[in-house]
Formats: sequence, C-alpha cells, structure tokens
Amino acid sequence: MATKIEINGTITVGDLAERLDLPVTKLIGELFKNGMMVTVNERIDVDTAQFIVEELDIEAEFESQAENTPVVQRHKTSDDPDAITRPPVIAVMGHVDHGKTSLLDKIREAKVADGESGGITQHISAYQITHMTGDKKGVKDDFRKITFLDTPGHEAFAALREHGAYLTDLVVVVVAADDGIKPQTLEAIRFARKAGVKMIVAANKIDKEGADINRLKQQLSENELMPEDWGGDTVVMPVSAKTGEGITELIDMVLLSTDVEDLKALGSGAAHGLVIESHMEQGKGPTAVVLVERGVLRKGDFIVAGGVYAKVRTLHGTDGDSIDDAGPSTPVVVSGFKALPEFGTPFEVVASEKVARKLSSEGASRQDARGKLSGASSTELLKAISRGNELQELNIVVKADVQGSLTSVIDSLKTLNTEEVAVKIVGSGVGAFTENDLHLAQTSSAILYGFHAELPAALRKIAARDSLKVRLYDVIYELLDDAKSELSELLAPEVIVTELGRLKVKKVFKTTQKEVIVGGDVTKGTIKVPSVVTIMRDKVQVAEAEAVRLQRGPQEAKEIPEGTECGVSLKTTAKLNLQEGDSLEFVTRELKERSL
Ligand code: GDP
Repeated sequence: MATKIEINGTITVGDLAERLDLPVTKLIGELFKNGMMVTVNERIDVDTAQFIVEELDIEAEFESQAENTPVVQRHKTSDDPDAITRPPVIAVMGHVDHGKTSLLDKIREAKVADGESGGITQHISAYQITHMTGDKKGVKDDFRKITFLDTPGHEAFAALREHGAYLTDLVVVVVAADDGIKPQTLEAIRFARKAGVKMIVAANKIDKEGADINRLKQQLSENELMPEDWGGDTVVMPVSAKTGEGITELIDMVLLSTDVEDLKALGSGAAHGLVIESHMEQGKGPTAVVLVERGVLRKGDFIVAGGVYAKVRTLHGTDGDSIDDAGPSTPVVVSGFKALPEFGTPFEVVASEKVARKLSSEGASRQDARGKLSGASSTELLKAISRGNELQELNIVVKADVQGSLTSVIDSLKTLNTEEVAVKIVGSGVGAFTENDLHLAQTSSAILYGFHAELPAALRKIAARDSLKVRLYDVIYELLDDAKSELSELLAPEVIVTELGRLKVKKVFKTTQKEVIVGGDVTKGTIKVPSVVTIMRDKVQVAEAEAVRLQRGPQEAKEIPEGTECGVSLKTTAKLNLQEGDSLEFVTRELKERSL
C-alpha cells in the first residue's frame, strides 16, 4: 500500500527522505539528476515531491495542506494622471534544455545560444524587442515594445524574491513538447502562481518527431493548468524555436494577455528601477544592466544602488545601440559605477554626486551591519554548536574543457556531500573562465574550480584584486582532494567535554550582575580554571557560568583537589542567585577541528 504523506505546502528534502525511509543522498541525487540543485534543508513542494517519488518508483501519496504565502507585488499600473502605457515585462522560464534561450533568440533573431559557454545560460539578461503586430484584432498599435527577461533558473529568482520585487508581468513557461513537464517547469509554474503573475505555456520543439501536445496538455491539466481548448483558461501556444513556427502568434498572445492589464508607469521624473545584472567590462569598468521601472534615466544622471553609486557615463540599449535616455520597462546597460552593484538591488536617480555619495555610503554601512549581524554570535563555542545543526554549503563555480568532463567533475564533487556539509554548484560551463564566472564567484563567495580550464591572463588581475579563490587542476583526484579539505573547514568542530570535579557551596560571598563569589568544598575530582560550571540545585540544572578564579585561603590557585576548601569566582551574563547547598559541576569544553 502506498505511504500517505501530509505536506504543509512544502517539505524539506531531509524530512521527505526520512518519511520515505530513504537515504537523503539518494533523494538529493535524484533531484540533481532532474536538474534541481537542492540541499537537505531546502523545501520542495507537493508536485515536485510527487514527481520525484514517481521517478524513484516509490509508491507514496501526498496530501497537501495549503500554505498561505504573502505575496509582494510590484505596482503594475499607476493612478498618476501623468502615467503612460509601458511595455510588458516578460520572464521566460522553463526546464533546462527545453529551448528557453533558443526561443528568445528566435524572438530577437539573434544568435546568443551559440556564444553561450557550454550552452548554459550564465546570468539573467534582458532584451527589448519591437514587434510589428499588423492590424490584428485587439492589439492596440502596429509597433509594440516588449521586454523579455532570460533567467538562469531558481537561484536568480530567489535573489529577486528576497528583495520583494517581482519584475514580471507575465511568465512564458517553455516546455519541450517531446519531453513534457519536468521539475523546473513545476518551479516556474510555482513562481508565477506565488507572484500572482499570468502564465502562457509555450509548447516548444513541435518540429520534433516525439512532440506530443496532447500529452503535455494532459500533464498541464494534472497541475491545475487546464488548457483553454479543454475548457480551462491556460493558453498553450505550439511553437518551434528551430523553424520559427508559431513565434509570431506567441508574441501576439503575450501582447493580448498583458494589454488587458493596462500596464502603466510614470514616464517622466527621476528614474527608479532594479539592477538585474552587473559585470566588469573592458575599458568601461563596473557595468550594470538595469530595468527602469518608472521615470526616465539619462546620461549624466547620478544613481544610487544599495552601497554603490554611478554617474551614468554611457547608456546602451540591450541591442548595443547607444541611447540618451530610457523610460519605463526599458532594460539598459549603464556604465560609470564606482563598484559593481549587487544583482537585485533597487536603484534611484538622485540630485547630485554629493547626495549619491552620502546615500551609497549609508547603504554600504547598512549592508555591513547586516553582514555582521548574520555572521556574529557571542562565542566561538555557540557558533560551533549552532553550526552543527544546519547544513553548511560550499559554493562552487566549475569550468571544464568539455561537457563530458564537466559532468563527471560535478558528479564527483557531489559524492563528497554529507549530512553536514555539501557542495553547491552555483555556476558551471565549458571553456575558459569568463568575467561572469568571476563575478558570480564574488557575489556568491564561491571557489572557482577549473578542470583543464584556463583563467585568461586578463582576468588574473581581477581575480587577484577581488581575492578570489581560483584552483586549476588537470587531475580530478587533486581537485576533489582540494574540495574535500575546503568542505572539512566547514564541518562544525567537535566539542570535547572533560569532567573535572564538583564543589558543594557553603557560603555566597558576593553577587553582582556579572560576578558571583562562593566558598565551598571540593567533593569530587580536581577543579580547575578556566572552566565551565553547571549549577545544580536538588539535582536540577539551574544555570551555567564560567569559573575564572580559584582561591585557597589567601592564595590564588589554578587547581584545587578533592577534600579541599576554596573560593570560586564565577563570571555570569545575568544575575545568578546561588545558595548554600548548590552543587557546582566543573567541566572543560574544547573545540577540535574535524576532517572528512
Ligand atoms: P535552454 O536550456 O532552455 O535555454 O535550451 P536551449 O535553447 O539551449 O535549447 C536546448 C537544445 O534544444 C538546443 O540543442 C537547441 O538547439 C534545441 N532546441 C531548442 N528549441 C528547439 C526546437 O524548437 N526544435 C528543435 N528540434 N530543437 C530545439
């Protein structure tokens, strides 16, 4: 009989493995195989769980209890009388290799996929196209602009979601009609649903022999996306990114669907928007692709994005043409930044360089404070203990000479994963390292591993300047050994507890907020300082403190043996009311580094 598992919206990979009585590595392995880079603590939803158990041939039934996730939504329309109609922003999402990039290329009629490293989309990109609609019914103008966002997968969207900003007005979910729905397809669907964004399904690769639109529609209906011609409201557009069939119809449909929403934004005044990509460009320095959400961005403007600012030196459209200004929904390439702005950071135009400098330095110190807060805990010990409870990940960017060796390097790296530490491949590809790889490594604090892959001389300076860890190997075992020792450093150190002895309190001499001094007899072992003391009253632990000083008569001592009377000074963080008769148990705790 099938196991019944209740899921409250989502479940962590670790919990699911436990409920299925499966080694977690096996479950993670299967998810990886299906293109989902997940870790033990990451959450997956019912659909993904169902999909993966089917792939594993396990009989399990999932019952979903709806999850109420608050949705943060971007302003789609503007009530301001000066608001103008703006182009829609479309995200193209889907499972890897289902033809996302090819489809965007066909739409732009440009050949980006060929130049992509190893065929893996490296970063989020944006393009604006002008589409000629002719005189089709329902479409307002003849020439219409549409902004497309190409997304690298869930990492980038997770980052954007963190900023509470959903960039898109509509999601085109690309599904290869010969392959059907896969985990990343489900993820795209989930993303669109959560953001409350409409979806259109592009059934791609219809030129292929194995293409089966009906099977795809069946799968969609099973995922609460009933196709229009089956009586539902999900639009399914058959397309071929190879032959171009159905592309015009798809774009027309995108416009029809977004026209209904009457998308508007202020078309004048200071520009506001979001940084959607940033990189170093030869001769230009830190450069960013930003999406203007409202207002107009002009050359010479001062913009602030988090902790960095720019005097806009050059402004280019995503087709490479130099432009003087950019209005709402326009993606533009901006140079003139003093440092790389972070992906997903909102930006705004300010009045002067002075204001820009002031706001960005405030932004930088806010970021610093955030970094400090999240990284800080009171003692090394506490940190170690809390570290032991959660999976530690080592971010890695891998490049290899050919696809085959890339796959085997990645697979081998994953074999190093344990329940406590795991590698997380944040980027990978075939060929030499590029600026994007370095940028990715910097923003995600990743190590760059090259297997028969080079770091071009021009990039060495950047790597050195940014103190990036670049490791180039020709022998896979050496690469793995290195990764293993890096992972070992993430292992929570072992805490070694040594019992020392016990003291019975006879008198309390002094009690302040920070210190307690007591006198008593050592009843067991030999007590020492410094050490950790557990205070027991009637066999129940009441508090913990640090023993810092021992006194035997008038003399200070480092240790006191059993059967001796002495004084003990305890350091406390809160006021401790010790009493006669309390028992103090002395231990030492040491941290010992571990290795895999
Ligand atoms: P992405 O990972 O989703 O961006 O997928 P790509 O655009 O890189 O496409 C993956 C592979 O599928 C490439 O080899 C493409 O040439 C191929 N492909 C994409 N669209 C089509 C299509 O409509 N028909 C056929 N026959 N192949 C396609």
